[in-house]
Order: sequence, then C-alpha cells, then structure tokens
Amino acid sequence: MDLSFSPADEAFRHEIREALRGLVPPDMARRTRQGFHPTKADLKLWNRILNDHGWAAAHWPREHGGSGWTPLQVHIFEEECAAADAPFPSYFGLRLVGPLLYTFGSEAQQCRYIPDILTGDTFWCQGFSEPSSGSDLASVRTTAVRDGDTYVVNGQKLWTTEAHYADRMFCLVRTDPDLPPQKGGLSMLMFPMTTPGITVRPVITIDGGHSVNEIFFENVRVPAEELLGAEGQGWDHAKFLLANERITNAHVPRAKRDLALLKEMAAREAAEQGGGLDLDEVDRRIAQLQIDLDGLEWSVLREVIGGSGNPAIASGLKIIASELQQRMTELAVDIVGVRGRIAYDEADLDRNDLPGNPPDYVPGLAARQLFLRATTIYAGSNEIQRGIIAKQQFGL
Ligand SMILES: Cc1cc2nc3c(=O)[nH]c(=O)nc-3n(C[C@H](O)[C@H](O)[C@H](O)COP(=O)(O)OP(=O)(O)OC[C@H]3O[C@@H](n4cnc5c(N)ncnc54)[C@H](O)[C@@H]3O)c2cc1C
Repeated sequence: MDLSFSPADEAFRHEIREALRGLVPPDMARRTRQGFHPTKADLKLWNRILNDHGWAAAHWPREHGGSGWTPLQVHIFEEECAAADAPFPSYFGLRLVGPLLYTFGSEAQQCRYIPDILTGDTFWCQGFSEPSSGSDLASVRTTAVRDGDTYVVNGQKLWTTEAHYADRMFCLVRTDPDLPPQKGGLSMLMFPMTTPGITVRPVITIDGGHSVNEIFFENVRVPAEELLGAEGQGWDHAKFLLANERITNAHVPRAKRDLALLKEMAAREAAEQGGGLDLDEVDRRIAQLQIDLDGLEWSVLREVIGGSGNPAIASGLKIIASELQQRMTELAVDIVGVRGRIAYDEADLDRNDLPGNPPDYVPGLAARQLFLRATTIYAGSNEIQRGIIAKQQFGL
C-alpha cells in the first residue's frame, strides 16, 4: 500500500495552506490550541468565514452545498484547518443533522434548514440520551403523541451538548409505545429550543465546565411537518447518524495537531526542567503515540475512501481514537506536573503574573484531562463498541 500523497494532493495542500493563512483570528486560534470548549461566538464566526469561501460543509456532496472535493482532499483540508488552530466547526449541524436532512429530509425541510446550517446562523443540539437510555437507545422513553397537526412531546433528555446555546434540537422520540424501535416505535422530530414547555438545566462536568445539559419536555407542541422522513423511521436515522459520528470522532486532523503541540511542549519542558523529566520515558510514549496515530490515520482514510460500511470498523476506529486522545493529554499532564492544575480563566490570559508565569499550554490542562475522560463514553461508550465488534466480526 502506498502511503504517500501524490504531487497533485501536495499541490492542493499548499493551495489550502496559503488560502488559510491569516484567516483564523489569533485569539480564536489560541483558545483552540488550548483545547477548551469552543464559544458560540467562535463557532459562529469560523462557520461564517468558512462559508464565505464555500468550505463550511467541505465533506458534503456538492449538490447540497459541499465542496465536491475527493475524501482525501477533504482530509487534507481538515488537517490544514487543524494545523492553523481553527476550531472544529459546528459539529451537530454540519456533521450530524445536515447529512440526516439531505439524506432523509423532505425538500421543504432541506430548504428551510440547510442554508442556515451552512452560514452558521442556526445551531443544533442532539437529543438522544436520557437518564436510563444512553447505551441502550432502544429504550428511549420521551414520548411524542400525535394530536391533529402536532405532536405533543413529554419526557427528559440528558447530557445534551450545547443545548444551552443551540437554536434547535433533533430529538429521538417514542411515537408508538407498542412497537420495538427496529419495527417503527421511534421517530425523529426537529424543533426550536424556544418552544414553550422546554426547560434546559446545566450539568457541570468534572472539569468544572458547562457544555452538557439536562432537558425537560412538558407538553411541548411540535408541528407534524417537523417530523424527519416518515413516522417510525427514527431507528434508521439514529443508526445512520451514529455510524457517521463514530468515524468523525476519530478526529485525526485534530489529533495530529495535538501531537505536534505535545512534542513542542516536551522539547520546551525538557530544556526548562532538565533532569526533572524522564526524557527516555517521554520519548518512548511520544514514539508510541506517533505510531498509533499513523496507523489510525491510514485506517480512517482507507475507510473514508474505500467505504467498507462495516460498523465494526467504525467502532474500532472510535475506540483507538478516543483512547489516543486520553493518552496524549495524560502525557501532557505528566510532563507539566502539578502546574497543570492552574485554572484557565479567559480574563487571566493577558496577564503575566500567573503563578510561575506558565506558557499558554499549562492553564487548564488538568481540567482538560478530566473532561476528556468523556471521550470513551460519548458517541457510544467503548464497551459498547467492543460489543459491536464482537457481534459483527465473531457473531458473539
Ligand atoms: C461529555 C458528554 C457529552 C454528551 N453529549 C451528548 C449529546 O449531545 N447528545 C446525546 O444524546 N447524548 C450525549 N452524551 C451521552 C452519551 O452518548 C452517553 O453518556 C453514552 O451513550 C453512555 O450512556 P449512559 O451515560 O446512559 O451510560 P450507561 O448506558 O448507563 O452505561 C454505564 C456503563 O455501563 C457500560 N455498559 C452499558 N451497557 C453495556 C453493555 N451492553 N455491555 C458492556 N458495557 C455496557 C457502559 O459502557 C458504561 O461504562 C454525552 C455524554 C457525555 C459524557
């Protein structure tokens, strides 16, 4: 297998690198480099900048607003965006609900929602998980009962990322309590977060941050035209979306940037800490990360370009990528030691009187390591992925 990029691909990379030069505002780049939850303002602005260049949905088919690039070109583009410290653009709109809409949505729904996803004017959140339905989505209990031209929604969602600033939700609901999901018991509804009867409450995670929420629905009336596809197709929509989500969660371009930053950090800390750092151990761990990331990158590319469609492969990639992300942050924290506990505070960033005047990779590092414990849980926990592999590959 030839793992090198062709001269044409390298020329494309050069073109993109030049076009991106100076495009990411410096303060946004710093926030991204430091790895914190992107602000809505940053996501919106970056979405708009990308859209002005026709790149907001580079990975979509051209007829729906995509770039028409090959999968390898899209990968190169994303790698260059990550190398320029651009935030990962609006995940729920561009990666999840957008493809759902152009695959299953009516023409009217596509016209209504897709333009604002491309411009970044509408932010979406994903209402799947519930207090006792995370791994087992088939047990979703939030109900949507048809009443004339509307559905009446009651129930609760949990862990809903960015719901506190999302404009709309795509929501998995039970429309038929008597049918199993695989036989038509679930459906997907889309509605504004301002609909009367919706309450959003923050869930503060172990890092002290607020990115997830719990949502309560009390007699929320949703027009029936907001149903995606036909009633009872929710299980198919969820499966389509979760497979997409697992590959996207491999986040190879971002991981490559993180590893490059980790190497810079290790070199700087080695010079500053001298004998205080076990350099052989750091080198060994970095080398292993590099080997694993190279393997992941080419496995993702083989899947993206060749498209086996085997769910076990998407699951395997999700496991490797999420564990890699955790190992990288663990090494970073091991290198900086107790200084990683220095809190991140936007207001402090321009001050130079922080304890020890740390370089900008230090503040918030330990909090980030704690938050990234979630990577092996969200988008389907790694135990569930291992179960999928066992079933798919070995019939267990
Ligand atoms: C930071 C974060 C953001 C999230 N964002 C969203 C979001 O935006 N929208 C959304 O809908 N959801 C979101 N989630 C929810 C996420 O998808 C669920 O947390 C995940 O699917 C696990 O479900 P659960 O939390 O209910 O745990 P459970 O399903 O109760 O699992 C508990 C433990 O048991 C294990 N387990 C469960 N079943 C099995 C089995 N059959 N075999 C082996 N082990 C098993 C699990 O691996 C886990 O370790 C988010 C979660 C986090 C942490």
